[in-house]
Amino acid sequence: MKIQQVDIFAIQLPLIDPFIISYATYDTMPSIILKITTDTGIVGYGEAVPDEHVTGESWDSTYAVLKHQLVPAIIGENPMAFEKLHDKMNHIVKDVPAAKAAIDIACFDIAGKALQLPVYQLLGGRYHEKFPITHVLSIGTPEEMADEAAKRVEMGYQSFKMKVGTEVRRDVARIKAVRERVGEDIAIRVDVNQGWGNAATTLQGLRALKDLNIDWLEQPVDSEDIDGMVEIKSKSDVPLMIDEGLRGVREMREIIAKRAADKVNIKLMKCGGIYPAMKLAVMAEMAGIECQIGSMVESSVGSAAGFHVAFSKKIMTSVELTGPLKFSKDVGNLHYDVPFICLTEKPGLGVDVDEEVLMELCQFSTTVTA
Ligand code: MG
Repeated sequence: MKIQQVDIFAIQLPLIDPFIISYATYDTMPSIILKITTDTGIVGYGEAVPDEHVTGESWDSTYAVLKHQLVPAIIGENPMAFEKLHDKMNHIVKDVPAAKAAIDIACFDIAGKALQLPVYQLLGGRYHEKFPITHVLSIGTPEEMADEAAKRVEMGYQSFKMKVGTEVRRDVARIKAVRERVGEDIAIRVDVNQGWGNAATTLQGLRALKDLNIDWLEQPVDSEDIDGMVEIKSKSDVPLMIDEGLRGVREMREIIAKRAADKVNIKLMKCGGIYPAMKLAVMAEMAGIECQIGSMVESSVGSAAGFHVAFSKKIMTSVELTGPLKFSKDVGNLHYDVPFICLTEKPGLGVDVDEEVLMELCQFSTTVTA
């Protein structure tokens, strides 16, 4: 089996509500959908949702590097030779993990369809039966965030991830308001997205949060500051998660060597897809670090890919892939049993892509053939 044709679609996914985090606000989510067709007629879909602030890739740069460098290099290759595909991509361009993830995900979709197996069967088989969905609370006033949390508890949600990262004092007020409103039995995780800057500010924040029983604190300091995480970890008993500070193997090695986190957030868009994510999960497992599979705000295609990784590894103890729930229109049909997610037995990613919607959301596209 050989890769014969690749279509690249640059799309804008419409969000129900604007997505607000410490470093950006989005009304629509830019994404790249990749459609790979093989000489045997099998079609696989992949997705790249680049994040300028995390991997240095933009929507346009991802489109360009796929069109001019990565896609021409994989035409004619066997889509099931993952080690070789990644080796080839890594030789052509350093980094650009979101672009590489699009190709990796589409090839896993093809491999699953060719073998008539869901992708998780290619990754060790299903370990988890279902995961609870964590609802992400965008940054707002303490009242707004508490109101939203209360509404979601009524819908059955049992865990929240609060986006904060403005000013410690104001963030603490937000977290207090949500905890008071939802009570003690609901899980609260806090994602600072680097907004507290350094270890000193973070330790002030953690002292103020002492009695609020948060599950973990995610990426309080600058992504490059692994030593800052080490310092915080040595002075606090709140579990710490590294997100932006972990991209690929290089950072994972440093995090393990310095014991800089209790938990890491692995994202396909940061590490280059399903195949590299599995390598990171094994590294973390060997070092006794728990993992979460997270995501950018991705469509059904990218989110499904993340779920297949999460469901197949014991060390994955939480998931955060709620992109499809945030869109008013999605290119695929990944199904959520809110407040849980299960995966089907359908082959490949198990997602049907609606090409009519794809064309409707498409801003520009290109086809590369053999
Ligand atoms: Mg995060």
